[in-house]
Amino acid sequence: MQLEILTDDEQNARICADYWRQTEEGEFAFKIREIASTHGMKPHVVSKYVEQYAFVWREDICCGRCKQPYRFGTRSQYQERRWLQNRVCKACMDAERQAIADKKRDLILKMRQSAENNMPDLKTLGLTSKIYLLAAIQALGDENFSIIEPLDDYPACTLSPDFVYDHKVLRHLIDDHLLLICLDTRLEAVELQEDDRFSIDLGECAFNIALDADQITALINEFFDEETAQSFRQAPEFITLCKEVQLNECLGFLKVILEDHQLYLSPGEKTRQVLSQCLEKFSVAQVYNFIWRAAKDAAAYYMRSSISKRQAANSVVGNISRNMERALANGWDVKLFNRNYNLPQSSLSRIIFNVVLGTDDGGFEKTLHELIA
Ligand SMILES: [Zn+2]
Repeated sequence: MQLEILTDDEQNARICADYWRQTEEGEFAFKIREIASTHGMKPHVVSKYVEQYAFVWREDICCGRCKQPYRFGTRSQYQERRWLQNRVCKACMDAERQAIADKKRDLILKMRQSAENNMPDLKTLGLTSKIYLLAAIQALGDENFSIIEPLDDYPACTLSPDFVYDHKVLRHLIDDHLLLICLDTRLEAVELQEDDRFSIDLGECAFNIALDADQITALINEFFDEETAQSFRQAPEFITLCKEVQLNECLGFLKVILEDHQLYLSPGEKTRQVLSQCLEKFSVAQVYNFIWRAAKDAAAYYMRSSISKRQAANSVVGNISRNMERALANGWDVKLFNRNYNLPQSSLSRIIFNVVLGTDDGGFEKTLHELIA
C-alpha cells in the first residue's frame, strides 16, 4: 500500500500517517479511537479529516484498461477494494462513450454529405416517389415543410398501414435523394458493429427535405389539379401502389390479430401472394374477415392439439386461402369488417384513396376494381 500525503502541514500529515500505518501483518496499527485521543480529535471526524489530506493506492487495484491505480481516502473504502479490481475507471468509460458518440456523429455527417452530392431531379421524379413524399410530409412533417420527424415518435399507421412498409417508404425517399438525414439525428439511431460496419434505424432518424418550400407547394398542388390527378389515376404505377397499400393494410391487420392470440408470424412471399389473390376479388374489409377467422381457428388449433405456436401461426395462410376459395365457389356474401381501432387510416392511404381517387371509402370497403371503375 502506497500513501500519498497532500498537505504540507506536519500535524495533519502525522494524523494521516497514523491513520494509514499498517503492521507487518497488514492490520491497521492504530484504532480510530487511539488516533483521536493522540491528536485531540473526536473519533467520528477522523476518517473525514484524513480523507481531505491523503489517499492510498496499490498497484494491483487498478483500472482494467488504463492501469491507473484506484485511490482510497478512508479505511472503509480501502476494505472494499477488491470490488474495484480490474474495473474500468470513470475516465476510461467517459472517453469510450465520447469516442463512440464522435464516431456516430461522423457517420451521420458522412451520410449527409454523400446525400447532398446527389440532388433530386424533379423532372424525372416518379409518381410513387411523389406520393410517398407527400405522405411523409403529411404524416411526419413540421409546419415549415423542412423537417421529417422520427417515425418512432408517432403512433402506428401514421405514415403507412404497416411498420415494415413505413421503413420501405423512407428508404425509397432516401434512395431518391428526397430526404437527407438531419445532422442532429439522435445518436441512438446509429448502431456500431464490428469491423467498422454500422446499421441505422430509420425510425429514429430525423430528415431534412431536399426540396424547398416552393417546390413542395408545387408538388402538393399537382394533386389538387384535376387534369394531373386524372393522369395519375390512369398510370399503371398508381394501380400497383393501390394494391401495395391494400396488401399492407391486410398484413398489418394479420400481425395485430395474431398478436391478440399470442401467435407471431413474419409474413413472407407466400402470405403476400395469398392476400393479394384475396384482394383481387374482395375488399380489405372482407379480407379482414378471412384473416380474423383464420387467426381464431389457428388459436383454437393450438389450444386443442400438441402443435407449436409456430405451426399454429403457419396454418393461418392456408386457412385464409381455403376460405377464400370456398367463398368464391359458393358465392358467399362475405361480411365487411370495420377498421381495427389500433390501425387507423394512414397518410399514405388517405392520399391514394381519398385525394387521388377522390373516394370517401379509404380503399377499405370497396374492392380496387370498384374504386377505379
Ligand atoms: Zn482507466
